[in-house]
Amino acid sequence: MSPAAYQFAQKAFSIAGNAACADCGTMEGLTWSSMVQGVGGTDGQHAVILCNECCGGHRSLGVHLSKPLSLKMDEWDEVLQTVLLETGNAALNAQFEVHPAAATSKPPPTAEVGTKHAYIRSKYEHRAFCEGGDGVLAAPLGTGASASSAAVTAGQVHAGIAIVRVLRGLDLVAADLNGKSDPYVKLKSGGKKVKTHIEKATLNPVWNETLQLNVESLAEPISVEVMDHDVIGMNDHLGTASINLSECTPNEATLLSLPLEGVSKGSLELEVTWCPLDP
Ligand SMILES: [Zn+2]
Repeated sequence: MSPAAYQFAQKAFSIAGNAACADCGTMEGLTWSSMVQGVGGTDGQHAVILCNECCGGHRSLGVHLSKPLSLKMDEWDEVLQTVLLETGNAALNAQFEVHPAAATSKPPPTAEVGTKHAYIRSKYEHRAFCEGGDGVLAAPLGTGASASSAAVTAGQVHAGIAIVRVLRGLDLVAADLNGKSDPYVKLKSGGKKVKTHIEKATLNPVWNETLQLNVESLAEPISVEVMDHDVIGMNDHLGTASINLSECTPNEATLLSLPLEGVSKGSLELEVTWCPLDP
């Protein structure tokens, strides 16, 4: 997560109601925002802050009703940023939770995923709790258990974005005559490549650089390569590793310490956030 994205997210959380999920009230895992079409369609969009589970419910509503975006990414253009900073959870719920039945129907943070999603469908699709709504809560689709396992399966087949913070290398191999290396890190997924900047003359480089990769298939690990930059001739290999995204919890930063293969020593520390996208 870049410093700018982090700052923007902090600003977003400070808006009324935004410290808790708009739909279940949890204060944990709030990494999503969604653009919700306002009541009547004339007052434009509302941006709400959501937890991972409720965000799944918003995805299944379809983008005409709600369009989720990750707060950890930098693709917030100025228009969306303005919407997020000028609306928020309290303003949205003042429209979408006015019916008295909303208070009794709203799921607690500990509710099953299926229960949360049923509430979300009632709230946004049927507009059951808006002014003039019928106050009827839709039945959950399937049991909570099957709903969450379905979510996991969906995460495995749908591609997304991997946000990789390359933290540092430890005890790397020396590739240059001065007993040091000029290391950088390359990541590859499918045909796409990204790389960090070069750290000069060190065996313990600190890059602290965030890279993003579009991932087409969860089945294919991201390949990691540590290289030594040489001004003249070929760059030397300082070892390889791989990131298995299916072992990372979606939308949560996972700290990885990877021993480097193909060399006598060295390891790499990374922080990986796997953000699955819409199908
Ligand atoms: Zn929630």
